Amino acid sequence: RRASLLSVTRYTSTAASRSISTLVVAEHEGGCIKASSVNAVEAARLLGHDNSITVLLAGSGPSLERAASSASSCHPSVSKVLVAHSDRFTHSLAEPWARLIQLVQQSGGYSHVVAASGSFGKNIVPRAAALLDVSPVTDVTQISEPLQFVRPIYAGNALCTVRYTGAEPCLLTIRSTSFPVDLQETGSKSNDAPISWVDLSTFEEESIGKSWYMKLTSQDTERPDLGNARVVVTGGRGLKSAENFKMIEKLAEKLGGAVGATRAAVDAGFVPNDLQVGQTGKIVAPELYMAFGVSGAIQHIAGMRDSKVIVAVNKDSDAPIFQVADYGLVGDLFEVIPELIEKLPDK
Ligand code: FAD
Repeated sequence: RRASLLSVTRYTSTAASRSISTLVVAEHEGGCIKASSVNAVEAARLLGHDNSITVLLAGSGPSLERAASSASSCHPSVSKVLVAHSDRFTHSLAEPWARLIQLVQQSGGYSHVVAASGSFGKNIVPRAAALLDVSPVTDVTQISEPLQFVRPIYAGNALCTVRYTGAEPCLLTIRSTSFPVDLQETGSKSNDAPISWVDLSTFEEESIGKSWYMKLTSQDTERPDLGNARVVVTGGRGLKSAENFKMIEKLAEKLGGAVGATRAAVDAGFVPNDLQVGQTGKIVAPELYMAFGVSGAIQHIAGMRDSKVIVAVNKDSDAPIFQVADYGLVGDLFEVIPELIEKLPDK
């Protein structure tokens, strides 16, 4: 079930001629650096042995300091943490963040800027690239050389090897699921990297104010984050209603997993769209992915094909999901899910 490797490599003589220094643009929540940003540090580590990695954090309030110390010990390869303290960065609005990246890159002369390819990175990195007058390389899944990357194309059906031939800096967004980190192991080996504050005295304000923060609508925080969960239980249109979808939530709870959904389930209003897995949703690669009443459309597979073990339950034996499943059960989900819930022990 791996995508084929399509090589469209373009080589030029502009290889990296000087040492690498990378700025990792990180997100934090509740005083902790997000797991996907630690994956971005891991990707930065693969850019080269002599790479000096600086983590950039921004925001305001007391949790920022805690997040800075969490960043300084999140990965043994972090050599420095830079913190920008201002209300302007509290809500991850793209304009001030893009300006901040421009300011920090220009003052630090970083050869690479890396961020995880979530909604934060996808929103901010292309704008920062425009300000720096370079073209970003997005959705990177492999790094073999400082300027050579693999990224999926055609909804993940082919992998494309690209060589960055533009000017410095090289801006990347990376798929966090492709750069796994054993958080316990890296945490135990980490040194505390020094923390310093970004001088914002030259920060330009004029581009700011085009967007503003209104409110955050967040789903329950009890369950693991969909993008990083070890188990994901997904429901599709086969669930037929929001009420029935509660079975998926119950099963996920039993397994200590996150809930996912297909776009058809989201469009039908069974669940909110932040649970969507796929080409236009979240990319996941859990240890266990369970799909109930999911046909296996190419756009859905694009978001879960790298899962370690895929289990599919569908009443149609010809459903394409069975082509990527490790374990498939042809059956009625309305019989299978209640039985699973009954037989599985409580978490
Ligand atoms: P269906 O295709 O309708 O499948 C429902 C399945 O449930 C069927 O296989 C049926 O046999 C089974 N079923 C029904 N009743 C039962 C039962 N009682 N027991 C067991 N099985 C049952 N989709 C995504 O998921 N994510 C994306 O990010 C995404 N992005 C897209 C982007 C674009 C540009 C486009 C064009 C489409 C995108 N889609 C995406 C939509 C995608 O093409 C499919 O329409 C969608 O994934 C189908 O969802 P589904 O499998 O839930 O529904």
